[in-house]
Amino acid sequence: MGDVQVLDGREAQVGKFTVRRVLPTRPLRTVGAWCFADHMGPAEVTATSGLDVGPHPHTGLQTVTWLMSGEALHKDSLGSEQLIRPGQLNLMTAGHGVVHSEEATGSYAGTLHGVQLWVAQPDDVRDGAPDFAHHASLPVVDTGAALATILAGTFLGETSPARFVTDLVGLDIVVRTGRATLPLRPDFEHAVVALEGEVLVDDVVARPGQIASLPPGRDHVVVGALETSRVLLLGGVPFPEPLFMWWNFVARSAEEVSRFYADWRDHGERFGEVRSSLGRIPSPVPPWEPVRVRPHPNL
Ligand code: MN
Repeated sequence: MGDVQVLDGREAQVGKFTVRRVLPTRPLRTVGAWCFADHMGPAEVTATSGLDVGPHPHTGLQTVTWLMSGEALHKDSLGSEQLIRPGQLNLMTAGHGVVHSEEATGSYAGTLHGVQLWVAQPDDVRDGAPDFAHHASLPVVDTGAALATILAGTFLGETSPARFVTDLVGLDIVVRTGRATLPLRPDFEHAVVALEGEVLVDDVVARPGQIASLPPGRDHVVVGALETSRVLLLGGVPFPEPLFMWWNFVARSAEEVSRFYADWRDHGERFGEVRSSLGRIPSPVPPWEPVRVRPHPNL
């Protein structure tokens, strides 16, 4: 159809991992309410050294954690301690403020491969209470050419138990050799993220580290694979609110981020505590913040 645009993500450091950050990327900032996508691994972890992302804060978003292989341990300021395995979903809602860490499990050693995604919360709920949900199993649909696990939303009559405020879809799709035709909602915009193997999105090549953007108005996409491949399909109604994203905060303005930054720096009550052997991650200073002049120690 000629409207597929393949964009390069970039590498970023998250804990011990170098990840491929495919969202946001220029010029694609959001896909529906999906506003962030990190593709982690595959990389080797030990029982005592995994993602090793120490306690850090979030606001105004939901994190979706999904593993293709391996195990990880989630801890948060709500007191959650949750092991996650392939086929399962961790959904953390930050709202007003939450803190979490992603750690080694104490038992699993081997390959870790997964994604962490953020969903922007709309204005009417983004200052609400934090929450954490673990979904031990998700619906799976076998179309013959593809095996789709429904992380979010509805696909071919099956619906994920994970709750989101905005209308969106998130699918993990194993594409068997050949071409899989996937139905799309024309009122959604979509993106395909290559997770394993080189794929064709319609007739455009996409590789791991890239994201293929599809505008609204389409009722299907054809994903082709020369060998068994795996993609993430994200979609949703275009998010109507302009976001201001900085570090781990999804906000609407620099002033708002400055408050979140100060609350984290000063151990304010917005953010709780996580019991973790990993160090608390300090926020960088927002570039628009005035330089803080410390009083001379003799004064
Ligand atoms: Mn996080």
